[in-house]
Amino acid sequence: MADPMTTGHRGWTPSDAIGAGYLLLTLAAEWAALPHGSAGVPVLPWNAAPAFAFALAARLGERWLPLIFVASLLAGLVEGGLRHGTAGILIQASAETLAAAVAAALLRSRRARPDLERLRGVFALFAASTAFSAVAASAEGTIALWSGTDPWKSADIAGQVFLAHLVALLAIAPLFIGFPFPGRGPKDAVLPSVESLLQAMALAVIAWEVFGRFANQELHFFYLLFLPFTWIATRHGQPGSASALAAIYLAPMVTDRLFGHHDQSIIELQIRLAVLAVTSLLLGALASERKLSGERLLARQAEITHFQRLNVGWEMASALAHELNQPLTAAMNYTQAALRLIMAPEPDMQAVGRIMAKSVDQIERVGQTIHGLRDFMRKGELRLTVNGVGDAAEEAIRLVLAEANAAGIALRPVGLSALPPVMADKTQIVQVLVNLIRNAIQSLAAAGTRNAVVTVSGKAVDDSVEVDVADNGPGLHPSVEARLFEPFVTTKEAGMGLGLSISKSILEAHEGRLWGENAPHGGAVFHFTLPKATKGTPDA
Ligand code: ADP
Repeated sequence: MADPMTTGHRGWTPSDAIGAGYLLLTLAAEWAALPHGSAGVPVLPWNAAPAFAFALAARLGERWLPLIFVASLLAGLVEGGLRHGTAGILIQASAETLAAAVAAALLRSRRARPDLERLRGVFALFAASTAFSAVAASAEGTIALWSGTDPWKSADIAGQVFLAHLVALLAIAPLFIGFPFPGRGPKDAVLPSVESLLQAMALAVIAWEVFGRFANQELHFFYLLFLPFTWIATRHGQPGSASALAAIYLAPMVTDRLFGHHDQSIIELQIRLAVLAVTSLLLGALASERKLSGERLLARQAEITHFQRLNVGWEMASALAHELNQPLTAAMNYTQAALRLIMAPEPDMQAVGRIMAKSVDQIERVGQTIHGLRDFMRKGELRLTVNGVGDAAEEAIRLVLAEANAAGIALRPVGLSALPPVMADKTQIVQVLVNLIRNAIQSLAAAGTRNAVVTVSGKAVDDSVEVDVADNGPGLHPSVEARLFEPFVTTKEAGMGLGLSISKSILEAHEGRLWGENAPHGGAVFHFTLPKATKGTPDA
């Protein structure tokens, strides 16, 4: 059974609205054009109706051709006596429809509307407008010949029709075919800017000078129109040019109605308007293209930033996995060793206890790394307390001992317990020391240095305590020496290049400093400072 909603009253669809709007505009244009009918020539020189047919076909395609034919017939009837009888009206309507078909074929590449915000689209518009006007002009010339007009006069008529069509198409059609339908896509500001109002005023004043006040004089002032057109095109691109052109096409119609028909040479005016239209459409396309490429560049930059952020996230995640892998593997090894001891016929429970304590240490390190990272992310939440650098170094050394032992590297703390206490977040300072000592261990291990040793020492300097982590390895690679503290700077295959940059941020949050250099007698040495604890500050 048929759906009652879709039978009978079909409702008002967008297509109906477009069709009705097109018919209304066409008839209104014919009516507005009538006072301009020039003596003795069957041409309406200031008629926007063909532009609507052209726009409809170019924008929405060939399926609208039947309506274009009907509208042309109606237009012929409105014009009445200007046409040569029913046959003339029929030929004229057929020619208009054929012209629209040609325009649609030329302009609608892959069934998309022409893009007038690019030069290529504007050139296509010029070509299609010329073709449309030529078809219409040929038909009109043929009708004239056929009805007995002499050949020269017929050619003259065809030329006038051509020019009248071309000007209407160039001035009016861009507004209807070049841009998205309102209501689709992002909306610009609803209220016009002060600049747009000034532009509209400039246009109106000059149009008044050209078509109103000096209507019956020569067209010298027409050239003044290039000023506001250039201003509008460069600021608003093609939408600006298209709107201004349509407005200037309407201006003489309005002034004619207000002040009566004037004697300005229509052909001269048409030629000037065609030149203005070509110039400002090209200018509008150039301005739009520049704006679009600027926008595309911005979009591309946003894309790159987004990609970089994703990449940093990924790098952070793998750095963290890398950072956690080592203590977790160590804890696993300790636990397996303890398990083997327990399974033995006579387990040495004291040894098991010692091994399990080491395992717990490693697991704690995992916890502290995660904690430290979280604290680091949560900026400004430092838990500053009075700490001995010796304690922090001891803890750090304990955490990296297994790695150092495995590589046969000695860790040597020197005179740390004698240092004055510092104000610091202990977890974070341990994190920095672990980073620096592990870097030294890795550098020594990679170089296979003999008698490898990492020395952690310190001294009091004014209001700070300076801690030095030195090794006797190969030293800093020249390629990274100047950029050590930038993120993602690394010489290691599995390195993330984040350790030093994070450490530097931690120290700066403590109002301390971190720097590194090659030691005079070989190896690398990293120094950092922390503020001394003053009296009356809370104890750890
Ligand atoms: P990563 O350890 O992931 O490479 P870091 O920021 O901790 O990241 O270190 C950056 C680079 O600094 C290392 O790749 C290495 O080239 C250099 N570096 C750091 N410490 C030392 C050191 N003790 N000896 C030699 N080079 C070092």
